[in-house]
Amino acid sequence: MGMALREDQILRYSRQILLREVGGRGQEALLAGRVRVDGIGAAGLTAAAYLAGGGTPVAGAGSLTLGPWAPGFLMSASDVGLPVTEALAREVPALNPDAEPVGQGGGLVAELPAAWSGDAPWVALGGDGVRAAVVFRSAEGCLWCFGETVRQLGSPPDGALGVAVGTLGALVFQRLRLGLGPSFGGRWLAAPGLVEDMAPPRCSRCASREDPAAP
Ligand SMILES: [Zn+2]
Repeated sequence: MGMALREDQILRYSRQILLREVGGRGQEALLAGRVRVDGIGAAGLTAAAYLAGGGTPVAGAGSLTLGPWAPGFLMSASDVGLPVTEALAREVPALNPDAEPVGQGGGLVAELPAAWSGDAPWVALGGDGVRAAVVFRSAEGCLWCFGETVRQLGSPPDGALGVAVGTLGALVFQRLRLGLGPSFGGRWLAAPGLVEDMAPPRCSRCASREDPAAP
């Protein structure tokens, strides 16, 4: 059972409630479930801002401190040197009071390399030195395939491509939270707005399930 939306929430989230895949029920689900964000670059901080803006409670994760490249979308120059958990705890409720993190659990959005633990959805923000990448799994998505895919990726780019991949990562997380498939996959972002399918490595179990001709 979800919680009823207040009038101010209907106004704040009217754009995404109008999207058929979200709706009032979907917005309630986004407001109800927490997410941990582990990242101090453009990708992670942009994802945190979009998730919080969409109403999902956002908590910082990891032990990293904000570097000189962090100011921009969510952080200011005076935040450099702060632990990301402390900076997000202050900035997220300022951006959207609904997104103040309460309770435990929730999914994880993290810049690579990252330690993966806790509840799905998991969304990895990475890159190959040229393109940015998003890799994701829901609770039903294969742990091995996810781990093997993110192991081959490096950290996400900064700048405009980092902002773009953070935005895409937040959208992918929201879709998974709403129960929209697929349960595992990845996308390359060659340039802001230019998304390409990824062909991630598959374990034999997943490969045989997808290809009826395989043993
Ligand atoms: Zn698999």
